[in-house]
Amino acid sequence: MSRIVVVGAGLGGLAASALLAQAGHEVTLLERASTVGGKSRRLDVDGERIDSGPSLVTFPGVWDELRRRLGAAGDAGEIELERLPEVGRYHFDGEEVTLPVPPDHRWYPAWKRFSDLHAPLAGDVTSLLVADPLDRRSLPALRRLLAVYGARLSTRAYLDGLTWMPDGLREIIAIHTLNAGVSPSQTPALYASMPAVMAESGVWVPRGGVYEIPLALARMADAAGVDIRTGEAVTRIERGRVTTAGGSFAADLVVTALDADRVAELRGRRPRPARALSCSAVAIYGALRESLPAHIAAHSVILPTKPEALFRSLAAGDEPADTMAFVNLYRAGETYPNRRSTVAVLLTAPADGSDYSLEHPFVRREVDRISRAMGLDGSITELMTDAAVLDPRYFGSFGEPHGALYGAARPLWMSGPFHRPAHHDPRTPWLWRVGASVHPGGGIPAVLGGAMIVTSKLLARHPA
Ligand SMILES: Cc1cc2nc3c(=O)[nH]c(=O)nc-3n(C[C@H](O)[C@H](O)[C@H](O)COP(=O)(O)OP(=O)(O)OC[C@H]3O[C@@H](n4cnc5c(N)ncnc54)[C@H](O)[C@@H]3O)c2cc1C
Repeated sequence: MSRIVVVGAGLGGLAASALLAQAGHEVTLLERASTVGGKSRRLDVDGERIDSGPSLVTFPGVWDELRRRLGAAGDAGEIELERLPEVGRYHFDGEEVTLPVPPDHRWYPAWKRFSDLHAPLAGDVTSLLVADPLDRRSLPALRRLLAVYGARLSTRAYLDGLTWMPDGLREIIAIHTLNAGVSPSQTPALYASMPAVMAESGVWVPRGGVYEIPLALARMADAAGVDIRTGEAVTRIERGRVTTAGGSFAADLVVTALDADRVAELRGRRPRPARALSCSAVAIYGALRESLPAHIAAHSVILPTKPEALFRSLAAGDEPADTMAFVNLYRAGETYPNRRSTVAVLLTAPADGSDYSLEHPFVRREVDRISRAMGLDGSITELMTDAAVLDPRYFGSFGEPHGALYGAARPLWMSGPFHRPAHHDPRTPWLWRVGASVHPGGGIPAVLGGAMIVTSKLLARHPA
């Protein structure tokens, strides 16, 4: 049995600590905040519950697999996932369309052709999310995927090759790569499949809100025997020891679930020179005076007028002319036990470390634009009785210092199993990494799947 210290109780750290304790190791999980969850947090806005950070759960098979691997402790992780009726309602260039595209829409034949090819990959993508792609057992799934994309390596190159696809639909499919924080020319072709795979396997929200996920992970970690300590800010990570403001913890192995740049600081390394980062967000959470009209969907996506211009601005860290926005509507009593409807407006923003308020020109401009696109009479923020705004400065206060949600943006060839820093470097055999900045894709399935991949590698070398 090894003494393992896991640093950071976001989704990655919670999952990794539970898996390691379940395997028989003595695990301590250190979290500097007073609550677990990291970017997933529960807010009270004017007396109503709103969960901040991640809002949608995709690839529910990853959650099931995590619970399965946790054996008896997995029983403590029950949550009730509710499927949204569609992937989302998209607004682009005056067009409004849902995914999957309905049969009466002029883009339906193109969507059907696309979906017939990509939706069957849902099982392969899920299995690759929880297994090392370099593992021999991943080969059949990899082969099937490569047969679809051929020599077109990036999402952009692949989609541009589909000359039969209407341009508007192509842009709607392409912009999903921003969910991984970068443009379609920086992600592997595999990302092109995501909208069709999501339409097949569903987009889900836990009853009660997404914060039910860290709560369930904490219950499973506790059941597996993890010593969870909140309010413990780690100040130094070194071989054999993790130091906090209040003391120190002996460790045979350390698993960090922090942003890779934060880990470098805590190991006393010099900060890395400036480089391209993944995107950040300005997230507005509001309690509504009255519900929105019945035609407003649970999940709306408003695209920028010129996606390529947005990708360039985000890569340069500059304020874009306009951006991609999500609007998530929670009608009274539906997801949350709230009396009133609530809404989350998530604006994709550059990782500039800045603070933003409702009065910031970028925020005002975008809120007005998306309210118009959704067919509202006035600005959506005017319908709020109160709002909380989380911005790149906030995300930078505990993640990548400029607020980049998934850390540094990597070149295409470094995505997947070749990314740097690696999960594990033979020069520091005591240190392992999980979390959004080392798992390309970065969202809940990548972080949970990544924790499963990394802990099985660790356990192969260090059985309890
Ligand atoms: C606005 C927004 C919307 C999103 N939407 C979605 C979505 O709809 N679907 C989806 O799948 N994903 C979504 N994501 C992504 C998802 O939330 C993240 O990828 C995931 O939560 C990251 O988890 P993590 O464990 O890697 O990191 P984090 O959540 O950043 O956890 C890191 C933890 O480490 C702690 N920590 C930091 N420094 C220290 C220290 N020195 N000592 C101890 N602890 C420390 C932090 O307090 C934090 O708890 C969204 C993210 C945001 C911000």
